[in-house]
Amino acid sequence: MRQKPLIWQIFPPYLVVIGAALLLMTGYMTHAIQQFHEKQMISDLEARARVLEDRVREQLEKHGPEAVHALCRNVGPEIATRITVIQADGAVIGDSEEDPADMDNHAARPEVAAALNDGLGTSVRFSHTLGRDMMYVAVPLHDNDRPAGVVRVSLPVTQVRDAIWGLYARIAAAGLLVVLLAGAVSWHVSRRISRSLDEMKRGARRFAQGDFSRQLPLPESREMANLAEAMNQMAQHLDDRIRAVLNQRNQQEAVLSSMVEGVLAVDNAQRILSLNGACARLMGVRAAEAQGRLLHEVVRNAALKDFVAQALDSVEPIENEFVLHEHDQQILQAHGTVLRDAQGRGIGAVVVLNDVTRLRRLEQVRRDFVANVSHELRTPITSIKGFVETLLEGALANPDDARRFLEIVAKQSDRLNAILGDLLTLSRIEEGERKAGIPLEVRPVRESLAAAVQLCASKAEAKHVAIELVCGESLMASINASMLEQAVANLVDNAIKYSDPGSAVRVYAATENGEVVIRVQDHGCGIPPEHLPRLFERFYRVDKARSRNLGGTGLGLSIVKHIAKVHRGRVWVESAPGKGSTFFMSVPSA
Ligand code: ADP
Repeated sequence: MRQKPLIWQIFPPYLVVIGAALLLMTGYMTHAIQQFHEKQMISDLEARARVLEDRVREQLEKHGPEAVHALCRNVGPEIATRITVIQADGAVIGDSEEDPADMDNHAARPEVAAALNDGLGTSVRFSHTLGRDMMYVAVPLHDNDRPAGVVRVSLPVTQVRDAIWGLYARIAAAGLLVVLLAGAVSWHVSRRISRSLDEMKRGARRFAQGDFSRQLPLPESREMANLAEAMNQMAQHLDDRIRAVLNQRNQQEAVLSSMVEGVLAVDNAQRILSLNGACARLMGVRAAEAQGRLLHEVVRNAALKDFVAQALDSVEPIENEFVLHEHDQQILQAHGTVLRDAQGRGIGAVVVLNDVTRLRRLEQVRRDFVANVSHELRTPITSIKGFVETLLEGALANPDDARRFLEIVAKQSDRLNAILGDLLTLSRIEEGERKAGIPLEVRPVRESLAAAVQLCASKAEAKHVAIELVCGESLMASINASMLEQAVANLVDNAIKYSDPGSAVRVYAATENGEVVIRVQDHGCGIPPEHLPRLFERFYRVDKARSRNLGGTGLGLSIVKHIAKVHRGRVWVESAPGKGSTFFMSVPSA
């Protein structure tokens, strides 16, 4: 339905009421005024007729009908009234405006008949003689108490009518004025009402948009003020509720977003209800974009999709582990539970995802380490056992063999010792790292480098390898001197081991980009590039047999890496097969 403006609901009824009242009033008033005027006229004309009656009788008695006609002629214009004298038989004997001879018999005129019968006759009608509406008043003309005729006076009624029309015109003008006034008043009233309503409408819109900062002003009228007050109260309640809900939601979001575990909630149709930041990161999507979409549109991983489907179907909470991204072997541990509403109906499922990649890798590393250590220890132990058994079985009898075998046993024991020594060193460093208890102090770097070079001096000499040390005396760093010495000694030891006799090893230290970088450079066999990424792992060797022959444990570089880590530094290597290698170790400068 098309709605009308308020003014069109107020103004027309106003107009109808005013118009009806005006019409009624005008009708009643004009009727009353007309009657009053006519009565006035009748009594006025009767008085004139009564005065004339005496004079007419006198003239008739003394001078006859001609004198009566002359009297009518004289007096009529004087009193601005038409005068007619009619005999009882209806014959006109005198008239102020016409010749009686030309006038027909007037016995049938109602006023004449009424005057003869009742003593007074009145009539309003059209005069054919004069051609207009006239009021006639007739009184009997007495002759010895017997009506001998009638004296009739008359006036045109147009005067009265004109007066009444004038009245009508004035009433119409006044009515128009009243209508205009009523229009103005109703316009003003409707404007005031609609202005208050508009104000409320704007306020309600603001409330609907969630802006509760301003209250509705209270209009003057009580009903409107009550309505505005009720709306303000409603807004206050809404504001409180929304605030409470928002607070609750913010708290929930804060909890969810600060969780390390990924949390994913879906409805029964597998549409995502919510997911936290950790979950979005795991899936490589944006939380805001994923919300409300179907799971299969967002998640590519089949295992996760299957898991969510299982969680939706199962009554009991479920648990599983799967690889999320094949390329980086990200392993997720997932817990799934059905989401229930207040009535206990299943409305979806919530899945908590835990990235256990690091944990599983550490477990793997530990397993590998145990396997590696066992393997590394088994070789020398097997060899020792073998030779000891051979000796016991009779080889002792041959002193040359016995000596050779015992030398091998001694060498394998040294190997065992070296492995255990390196393992102990590693575990000491790790322990210190764990407890953050390795003391660092600002010391000259050269001291540690010189000590390391000194440690390897005899090996270098034996292999005719020259060691050159380049390091400023004033170069200072925050270090653990004995550890740094061990790391550099390991690097120099390797450099000597993997260099050809007669070549040179250079140990060089300088400040670069705010850190002290120590380089150990050799011109030895070098390392093929495919081995470089894993070189610093425990027990990793490029050439196992060569390393063992040279008395290596495969733990030297791993110790270097750990020592660099303790110093909050790094290790890296540049190498080319046949050209030599340069090992770098950085520590923050003092
Ligand atoms: P190892 O006790 O076998 O030397 P490391 O951890 O010290 O164990 O070194 C790991 C492996 O890295 C070695 O087996 C060797 O193959 C390679 N390597 C280390 N340093 C050098 C070097 N200066 N030149 C060539 N290869 C090297």
